[in-house]
Amino acid sequence: MRVRADREACVGSGLCALRLPELFDQSEDDGTVLLLRAEPEPDQEAAALEVVEVCPSRALRIDRA
Ligand code: SF4
Repeated sequence: MRVRADREACVGSGLCALRLPELFDQSEDDGTVLLLRAEPEPDQEAAALEVVEVCPSRALRIDRA
């Protein structure tokens, strides 16, 4: 599983960083998403799928390789 983040689409809600701070942070400049790690550990995959669903701007997606 690989997470992709579209910073152009992100509206900086911070939900992803709140739910999975191991993977996501927010830019100090404009609050947009920073992807810290694109490949979740197996025990983080369910939460990663969850944040993709709750992201209000649909800026996150999952690639299954
Ligand atoms: S949940 Fe979506 S809109 Fe909110 S900071 Fe993360 S990527 Fe951006």
